[in-house]
Amino acid sequence: MFITRFAPSPTGDLHRGHAFSALTAFEAARAAGGRFILRIEDIDATRCRPQFETGIYEDLAWLGLTWETPVRRQSEHLDDYQAALARLEVDGLLYRCFRTRREVAEAMASAPHGAMEVFRGRPLPLAEEMRRLTAGEPFAWRLSLDAAARKLGGFGDLAFTEEGEGVIQARPELGGDVVLARKDVGVAYHLAVTVDDALQGITHVIRGRDLFEATHVQRLLQALLGLPTPLYRHHALLTGPDGKRFAKRDRAETLRSLRDRGMSPATLRRELGFD
Ligand code: GLU
Repeated sequence: MFITRFAPSPTGDLHRGHAFSALTAFEAARAAGGRFILRIEDIDATRCRPQFETGIYEDLAWLGLTWETPVRRQSEHLDDYQAALARLEVDGLLYRCFRTRREVAEAMASAPHGAMEVFRGRPLPLAEEMRRLTAGEPFAWRLSLDAAARKLGGFGDLAFTEEGEGVIQARPELGGDVVLARKDVGVAYHLAVTVDDALQGITHVIRGRDLFEATHVQRLLQALLGLPTPLYRHHALLTGPDGKRFAKRDRAETLRSLRDRGMSPATLRRELGFD
């Protein structure tokens, strides 16, 4: 069974790039006689808004998409992410990071051999950690690449299949010691996405090229959590007339504004190369 998903975050209105991504996944599921799942990635309560979630349903319905209900909303499943986090912690794969964003940036800039490109840290000495915990200082949980490499005997066996490209060696070091639980919301993107793709039985992850590096990190999490690895297809990003990719800030190109200007879904589908 072919199962794919479109997993937007309700932090803004959808634009043409999202329409392309959603249609690519939806049409792939249809062609394969498979299932298409819509997932709302709303763990970031500070940036997600109910009106953007409503807008996602309206935009996708307007485009002619249908999806299974009930829709999984990540904010309703924090227990699942906590369970995965607890498992990684018991396995000694995480450490608490009390640094602020600025301290992380400073640590990276002052690393020996030139600046670090991604953050690599280590646990604090126990007494220092206890002092900060007792003082109630907030912390994030980071994945320790060193601990992960020890557990797996290196990353040499980690690979994933990119459709059209074949087997790709995963390089989780591209992401560094990623945050798996943010200070503010208690979970973070890579963990939630990896857990959900497995729980929802996703066989094909179809998403934009901007998330290609994320796959290297998520492949590692699959190995550490004993989860299956889907096939991946990272499609090229749609660009506007200026050659730049669409972003949520380009208001004129939101699907809502295209709808309001009277564009028909058939026209947009055609412009995006469908039908
Ligand atoms: N929620 C992510 C985003 O909106 C996409 C996650 C994914 O497709 O893996 O960028």
